[in-house]
Amino acid sequence: ALDRIRNSGLLKTQGLVGGKWIDSYDGKKIEVQNPATGDVIASVPCMGSKETTDAISSAYSTYSSWSKLTAAERSKALRNWYDLIIKHKDELALLITLEQGKPIKEALGEVNYGASFIEFFSEEAKRIYGDIIPAPLSDRRLLVLKQPVGVVGAITPWNFPLAMITRKVGPALACGCTVVVKPSEYTPLTALAAADLALQAGIPPGALNIVMGNAPEIGDALLKSTQVRKITFTGSTAVGKKLMEGSASTVKKVSLELGGNAPCIVFDDADIDVAVKGSLAAKFRNSDQTCVCANRILVQEGIYEEFAKAFVKAVQGMQVGNGLVEGTSQGPLINEAAVQKVEKFVNDATSKGANVILGGRRHSLGKTFYEPTVVSNVNRDMLLFKDEVFGPVAPLVPFKTEEDAISMANDTNAGLAAYVFTKSIPRSWRVSEALEYGLVGVNEGIISTEVAPFGGVKQSGLGREGSKYGMDEYLEVKYVCMGNL
Ligand code: ADP
Repeated sequence: ALDRIRNSGLLKTQGLVGGKWIDSYDGKKIEVQNPATGDVIASVPCMGSKETTDAISSAYSTYSSWSKLTAAERSKALRNWYDLIIKHKDELALLITLEQGKPIKEALGEVNYGASFIEFFSEEAKRIYGDIIPAPLSDRRLLVLKQPVGVVGAITPWNFPLAMITRKVGPALACGCTVVVKPSEYTPLTALAAADLALQAGIPPGALNIVMGNAPEIGDALLKSTQVRKITFTGSTAVGKKLMEGSASTVKKVSLELGGNAPCIVFDDADIDVAVKGSLAAKFRNSDQTCVCANRILVQEGIYEEFAKAFVKAVQGMQVGNGLVEGTSQGPLINEAAVQKVEKFVNDATSKGANVILGGRRHSLGKTFYEPTVVSNVNRDMLLFKDEVFGPVAPLVPFKTEEDAISMANDTNAGLAAYVFTKSIPRSWRVSEALEYGLVGVNEGIISTEVAPFGGVKQSGLGREGSKYGMDEYLEVKYVCMGNL
């Protein structure tokens, strides 16, 4: 698989600053591992504040020309980038599976999803409309212009090595911003390959820069710079809070996509097949390593036994293995620490009275693999209820009434995605409106799309990505008053 990527020219192992591929200034490197095997795939530069400062300068000087292009010109470059991503989708998917671990079919899904943001925002680039406001005085005309915010610092996680980047870079470039991206050190290779395709597509050198290495140092350099006008981040709530705090000294615009604790609520009146299929997809996608994965499955008492039985049967059908192997539906977790976290959560639940009804152990394949697991009788006191497990463990939580379900669902500081399974239309409205979440799936477990707004409430984040709303994050509103007409 690696040879195929190498032969396509997409195995890039240097950072990208000002259109040039560079090493770190002190020559230090970090290794990128395949989480399924532990093999080292490649080494990339371990960069810090100096390289980041140069990347910011390059983004800043490119900003004046990129932002002055016509919308149609920027749109065209983005469309070319989209076409190249699709042309190389097989190589990009292989790279995602190699460095992140997800099954190849899901990796291909991510390439299509990731590319869709570039396509969508290449179109939105042409629709950055302003306003004319009726003036309170007859000799005046009041105009509203939308202008790019400027240089953007984007920090992204490892769970979607391509899509979390395109979802930020797509709208930023469409609006006329230039960007410095810091991908996760676990998954930099997909980011570098995508950046290479951006250069080939005619996105000018300096408009998209990639640095990686010492995350806090790179983060601080972005935060301190007065040239960086916006920070966009997807990752843990703890790091998000630090970035928000650090943005205060220069008053940057901030968008954050942070942790979730998604409830999946199955009511007595649900269609059981739809509920099992939907909650299975919401739970086990990417081995539960997404911030919108169903963290807690709340099941009403009347349907609990029947649901648990059907759900366990469906989970038993999943195949664990290396994502490159045909038929694998559950890949490895990103590293051993992730497996230890899962073990801790399961032990905590069983010590407090929950029952493991399927799995509950490390998988025989070794280090990063954990058995798909179902835990029954989980309650509010357990870590599985309170925190994101980010591993293949489905906790089933029984509840009595609709009010109980809503209260349990909202009993968290997180508020990203929630899922509801019911055949009742009034209930689906009531519950959707009562849930303190940014996204709600009704009778559907996979709801993300480039055309709809994605983002959380409470401590799950600020701002929205994707859709027309995703453009606002990269635009400033300017009021122009023309007087004495
Ligand atoms: P995850 O649990 O998804 O790894 P993190 O928040 O640790 O979440 O990582 C998300 C991104 O944030 C990664 O690119 C990581 O390198 C980066 N990161 C981690 N710590 C910092 C920091 N102090 N400043 C800036 N970026 C950071």
